[in-house]
Amino acid sequence: MVDSTNPETIALHAGWRADPTTGSVAVPIHQTTSFQFQDTGHAARLFGLAEMGNIYTRIMNPTVDVLEKRVAALEGGVAGLALGSGQAATTFSVLNLCEAGDNIVSSTDLYGGTWNLFANTLKSFGVEVRFVDPADPQNFVNATDDRTRCWYAETLPNPKLRVFPIAEVAALGRKIGVPLIMDNTAAPVLCKPLALGAAVVMHSTTKWIGGHGTSIGGMVVDGGNFDWEANAARFPTLNKPDASYHGAVWTQAVKPLGPIAYIIRMRVILLRDLGAPMAPMNAFLTLQGLETLPLRMERHCANAIKVASFLASHPAVASVTHPSLMTGENKRRADAALKGGYGSLLGFELKAGAEAGKKFIEALKMFYHVANIGDARSLAIHPATTTHSQLNAEEQAASGVSPGYVRLSIGIEHIDDILADLSQALDAAA
Ligand SMILES: *Cc1c(COP(=O)(O)O)cnc(C)c1O
Repeated sequence: MVDSTNPETIALHAGWRADPTTGSVAVPIHQTTSFQFQDTGHAARLFGLAEMGNIYTRIMNPTVDVLEKRVAALEGGVAGLALGSGQAATTFSVLNLCEAGDNIVSSTDLYGGTWNLFANTLKSFGVEVRFVDPADPQNFVNATDDRTRCWYAETLPNPKLRVFPIAEVAALGRKIGVPLIMDNTAAPVLCKPLALGAAVVMHSTTKWIGGHGTSIGGMVVDGGNFDWEANAARFPTLNKPDASYHGAVWTQAVKPLGPIAYIIRMRVILLRDLGAPMAPMNAFLTLQGLETLPLRMERHCANAIKVASFLASHPAVASVTHPSLMTGENKRRADAALKGGYGSLLGFELKAGAEAGKKFIEALKMFYHVANIGDARSLAIHPATTTHSQLNAEEQAASGVSPGYVRLSIGIEHIDDILADLSQALDAAA
């Protein structure tokens, strides 16, 4: 096994060397529901968590396991849990700590799907989400009470692309014993939220990690760096005897295996009861994407900077949103959290408004008009009528979506072809 802290090497080697029986270098696709036990004692030990091993693919699968180890290594965490989608990863990351009557504090700058989950669905489960503006980190502290189980935010949230002050907020949370969960979907490799003090990282692997638009997936990584016992009253799901597991107390039960109480509980309780595993085939396809992720991120970022400066000097464009063009505190935050690039998401507003925005999108020839982001191909969308259409006008404004805003996810094509397509579409919209 190769031991490295460099993302380029981790992406190719972490969690796998070769198949011990066949020598296969590529990770095999273990397309099976179940795994044969050696004998009844082995079966009993697996079910009793006395020994870790494969039982049933809803809970664990060897192909999925390699992806979990690799993303955990990339993020510098202790263990990962792959899920069927990024939405499942967000849901599990929060519900692993919350019971009805509890609350969490979240940044207002969120993916539209996360906003709906937090504002409506979790509320109907009895979990309140308190939204605060991340402009002032202290807002998180002010919204926190005894029933607050975690704080939640995105590293590089679109459309505003204001980079979240991870180190500042994580440090405030650690002072009062509240963990920070970071959605690092838009900044893999560029940002290491765990090293900045976050306790948990989640990803929609559908986006940059998969990178080729083939597979929906999610991942939660346990940083292993948060003391769930020091403030046991705040984390009943991890510190109370669990009736569904013979009274196991998760912070105690898995101590010999390392600081993995959070992620083990998520696997053996939430994945067992709520389902939503990642399929082995999707784990395989996501691994193929992950292997070239560090290389792709370099090109994504280099192309995006060039697009940002092209649009900023174009006469038809009213404003461009990209961290490379920001100033003051927002630029400082971007530079503090992101290393090696400012990401490949970018937004802009046409001077001629919403109608011109629609014309622009329809005139694109190479860019795909899709709801996805993070694909190797360049993508474009009009958020107000699509990704953010389920938000009301007030919520849209709060999340930074104005009627004429166009979002781009810059791919890894040759920069000349990207700029040529944008240029002809801008002319067509004029
Ligand atoms: C896409 C996305 C999600 C949801 O992931 P799915 O894989 O689509 O379920 C969550 N957060 C962010 C930032 C995303 O871009």
